Amino acid sequence: MSRTIPYDVIVIGAGIIGISTALKLQSKGKQVLVIDRKGVAAETSSGNAGAFAFADVIPLATPGIMKKAPKWLLDPLGPLSIHPAYAFKILPWMLHFWRASWKDRYVNALTAQSNLMELSKAALERQIQEVNGEALIRREGQLQLYEGETEFKAAQPGWDVRKKYGVKFEFLESPEAIASIQPGIDARFTHAGFTPEWKNVVHPAQWTQHLANEFKKLGGNRHYRNHFN
Ligand SMILES: Cc1cc2nc3c(=O)[nH]c(=O)nc-3n(C[C@H](O)[C@H](O)[C@H](O)COP(=O)(O)OP(=O)(O)OC[C@H]3O[C@@H](n4cnc5c(N)ncnc54)[C@H](O)[C@@H]3O)c2cc1C
Repeated sequence: MSRTIPYDVIVIGAGIIGISTALKLQSKGKQVLVIDRKGVAAETSSGNAGAFAFADVIPLATPGIMKKAPKWLLDPLGPLSIHPAYAFKILPWMLHFWRASWKDRYVNALTAQSNLMELSKAALERQIQEVNGEALIRREGQLQLYEGETEFKAAQPGWDVRKKYGVKFEFLESPEAIASIQPGIDARFTHAGFTPEWKNVVHPAQWTQHLANEFKKLGGNRHYRNHFN
């Protein structure tokens, strides 16, 4: 005996991705059910930095990054740490990552990421309007800070790439210039790159919950099995 499920789509996971997907499908007239084992924004989407990092077009897999990995692994404060028990398991992924850092793949990824960012920027503005969410958005840009000129100069290749790919930014080359954007920053930060189009949500869990509320409101309870509330 077959049983009909009264939904076109069932989304598993009520994080930012699941809820955004559900909202979009709902706006296209689909009957959508969202299921989560815990609740809205119960995991990663509750505790991230809440940034729409539109200036971050450069992929992590940059040429030469694998040469830096051994040094990072040995440094307890380095940006990479792999538990010895996990090293073998992660090896296939690391090999893919290494291949992705070759120049040809890197350039393709950079172009794709930059195009995606443009699409995402426009999609975010539409979403903010559709869910009446402006009060939860902070349009303050972002500062990347450098301790001294040497550090700032070392970061130039990254800024050159951003410029080539159309990212808007300006350089601030004194603590006073930095303070004009964000007062109170320690004077050891002498240089900064300011990306005005970077946006934040006031709180990632609040933003996801807001979208979930809209989903419920627009679709009616009968299409939304709220296991969690
Ligand atoms: C420290 C940190 C900072 C970050 N900062 C940023 C940032 O500033 N900007 C940014 O864009 N991204 C950031 N990210 C990444 C971002 O948080 C994630 O990409 C995003 O939250 C992923 O959303 P998601 O909906 O895919 O997953 P999640 O938020 O993890 O949601 C998955 C949901 O699925 C549910 N689930 C899983 N398995 C099942 C199952 N079998 N049955 C039912 N339910 C299930 C879980 O309960 C959970 O609610 C950051 C991540 C971290 C860790």
